[in-house]
Amino acid sequence: MATERTLSIIKPDATRRNLTGKINAMLEEGGLRFVAQKRIKLDRERAERFYAVHKERPFFNDLCAFMTSGPVVVQVLEGDNAVARNREIMGATNPADANEGTIRKSFAESIEANSAHGSDSLENAAIEIACFFSDDEIVG
Ligand code: ATP
Ligand code: MG
Repeated sequence: MATERTLSIIKPDATRRNLTGKINAMLEEGGLRFVAQKRIKLDRERAERFYAVHKERPFFNDLCAFMTSGPVVVQVLEGDNAVARNREIMGATNPADANEGTIRKSFAESIEANSAHGSDSLENAAIEIACFFSDDEIVG
């Protein structure tokens, strides 16, 4: 299996409820390793840039407002097939569709406030990691 890196974000609904440690434990127990992590507050411009692929979607404005509503924890995860593995551990976008034991099934409040983000391809992972981390901040 290929070792990959992916970007994960613990979203404001989860930091507000003090769930960072529980979510991080699920990621580690799922076989992923934190090679970078920081807690930040996104501003509107950065949130819009990050979610630019969704800018025509009806939920774009609300999503950017939500993502700037409190702190987020941005993190680089490393492991075998890390992109797909992280998305398995997170579960489906809509918590109503997420499998038991996933982050979103366990913690998400709604399809929007769904506790975690994970890159959806290796190519996007590299782009998203570079949005938040310089090479010297990632220690494998
Ligand atoms: P993420 O990109 O956050 O990892 P995802 O890839 O599962 O999630 P996307 O389709 O990329 O889902 O949507 C990005 C985010 O936009 C979702 O995680 C969620 O917070 C929000 N979102 C998606 N669909 C809806 C919707 N129908 N209504 C409200 N918010 C939504
Ligand atoms: Mg996505």
